[in-house]
Amino acid sequence: MSPSTDRIALTELDAVRVYALPMRTRFRGLTVREGILLSGPAGWGEFCAFEDYSDTESVPWLDAALEACAGAWPEPVREEIPVNCTVPAVTPNRAYEIAAASGCSTAKVKVAEAGQTPGDDTDRVTAVREALGASGAVRVDANAAWDVDEAVTRIKELDRAAHGLEYVEQPCATVEELAAVRRRVDVRIAADESIRRAEDPLRVAVAEAADVAVLKVAPLGGVRRALQVAEACGLPCVVSSALESSVGLSAQLALAGSLPELPFACGLGTVSLLGGDTVADSLLPSGGHLPVPRRAPEPDPVRVAAATPSASTQRRWLDRLRRVHALG
Ligand SMILES: [Mg+2]
Repeated sequence: MSPSTDRIALTELDAVRVYALPMRTRFRGLTVREGILLSGPAGWGEFCAFEDYSDTESVPWLDAALEACAGAWPEPVREEIPVNCTVPAVTPNRAYEIAAASGCSTAKVKVAEAGQTPGDDTDRVTAVREALGASGAVRVDANAAWDVDEAVTRIKELDRAAHGLEYVEQPCATVEELAAVRRRVDVRIAADESIRRAEDPLRVAVAEAADVAVLKVAPLGGVRRALQVAEACGLPCVVSSALESSVGLSAQLALAGSLPELPFACGLGTVSLLGGDTVADSLLPSGGHLPVPRRAPEPDPVRVAAATPSASTQRRWLDRLRRVHALG
């Protein structure tokens, strides 16, 4: 599959701005989220491949940023996107508060956290169901923590505690394990970590390993490519953020806005996980929804200045940008 965007040269960029924003809570082992904002002829894009991604793996992330700089996203088919709230591995009382205060009718509950018991998970899920009421949707995310037998047992327990789970995200690490779990439970399985490259969703679909594909624009190489991937795999899709600032998040919203079907709430209410932003009007959900933007919001000079990291961090990102661009 060839990228459908024209790849613009670095010399065509009007501006590059490196940022570093603190995380409000540690996430994916991160306490700071770093990236680089790029300004091109059509607007702004955000390149923020995680630190542990190699230069080769980071190429689609840069393609996604350059797509936003170079041209228009596809025409959306909806104006707003329902989003889920995220409930970390907290106490039942805190979980109830988070879900009740979110304004969202869907909650994603983190389970299988190291150091916690299965009872902690069922108590948290029970509390979230109480907070959302019978009409809410409760999904859980195990982040690949279980083996197959453990997953089957836990999913059945959590499904009972939730009075019906919407789906369970990445119960096990491998596609083969996901397929094995899926044959043994009635709850939908969603593939998240199993989808890291454009060819992965098709692999998941062919292996009958999941009922739902969790897509992120950046690892798939942009909004247009992600749309092609969604169509090729044929699974219902949920769009989920890669913890971007509002500039990068707008591309995720553009994908969610242009998918032909969007049966589930998306994991895009994530800007609040950052202790700051790169724009003045952050893309924060209101009433459990986010608007679909036509282009990325303009970075705010004051906020970008406040988020500018040390000279050595800036140099590291500019070097990475040059290396990754050279590979594309
Ligand atoms: Mg996940």
